[in-house]
Amino acid sequence: MAGIYLHIPFCKQACHYCNFHFSTSLKQKDALLDALIDEIRLQKDYLEGRPLNSIYLGGGTPSLLSADELARLFEVIYQLHTVVDKAEITLEANPDDLNKQTLKALRQTPINRLSIGIQSFSGADLAFMNRAHNATEAEACIDLALDQGFSDLSVDLIYGTPTMDDRQWEANMEKVFAKKIPHLSCYCLTVEPQTALDYFVKQGKAKPVDEEQAARQFEMLIKRAKGAGYDHYEISNFAQPGHYAQHNSNYWLSENYLGVGPSAHSFNGHSRQWNVANNAKYIKALSQGELAFEKEELTADQRYNEYIMTGLRTIWGCDLEKINQLDPTYRAHFLQQAQVFLEDGNLIRQNEIFTLSEAGRLLADRIAMELFV
Ligand code: SF4
Repeated sequence: MAGIYLHIPFCKQACHYCNFHFSTSLKQKDALLDALIDEIRLQKDYLEGRPLNSIYLGGGTPSLLSADELARLFEVIYQLHTVVDKAEITLEANPDDLNKQTLKALRQTPINRLSIGIQSFSGADLAFMNRAHNATEAEACIDLALDQGFSDLSVDLIYGTPTMDDRQWEANMEKVFAKKIPHLSCYCLTVEPQTALDYFVKQGKAKPVDEEQAARQFEMLIKRAKGAGYDHYEISNFAQPGHYAQHNSNYWLSENYLGVGPSAHSFNGHSRQWNVANNAKYIKALSQGELAFEKEELTADQRYNEYIMTGLRTIWGCDLEKINQLDPTYRAHFLQQAQVFLEDGNLIRQNEIFTLSEAGRLLADRIAMELFV
């Protein structure tokens, strides 16, 4: 199986914490759409005929595209690829783009799953993040989407902001649990270099992330989500049984995927490549029938480290058999490095599979670093 990711690099306004590639000018939208279609055609053999179990439109803000524009993209993908029955077809959407009319139109496309960038139900929080939507829209769009038959929903939430105390975080979680949202992606606020938030923190105009608050709210999340019947299947992702995201799982299980659009990444089992993160350069290259990307052939060490980093973060863990297949010397290294974490209870071993314990999930990145070669 394989997946296709399409990056739609436009947003209405810049969220203060965001370091993704996007432009707030929509002037090049039509030209970009043509370029995306050209890239899908040029890259038709990248996945070597593997059937698609996931198509994911991310960004940026793909919900800025009309249903007709989205249909143009699907048409060419379906012409060139085999899409399996019940493939997961996800659109990332922002609350302010979702109304009865747009949702009705989206239902006429192959999209069968929405990933909604709610982030918070608190007005103060949304203002701090400079989101384009308000608290009323955050709540209303979920009900509208459910009403229009989009039952397969994922909601993004952010915790650890200086404008959110534990009570508000509890209230945010309560809202999504009460609405029985099948999938949640919950991220801790991070101050990425060269973002507006980074600038504000450096100027003393915004507080830095309080690590204690962030860890406490993450622990609250783990506990509350478990109580509400969610599987914590990846560090930042929670799903009701049967609703694990196919798109995310493809990444974590090292399936091949093709990324289309400026800044999109692709992986074919042995190399990674990433498109230029510049709309004008991307469009120009495609208009000349060329692809603008950089490529890296992965070394055995990189493949091992990536496997450890992604595997450890998931419910599927790290499999000694797979580590051995990469290179038998990694097996010995892994076992030696893992010993201390087994002893202190941060890692759990079941036959050949190693997973993080609940306590270990709080230290995932540090443990992964210790297991790297
Ligand atoms: S809408 Fe998403 S991609 Fe756009 S600026 Fe905000 S966080 Fe970044």
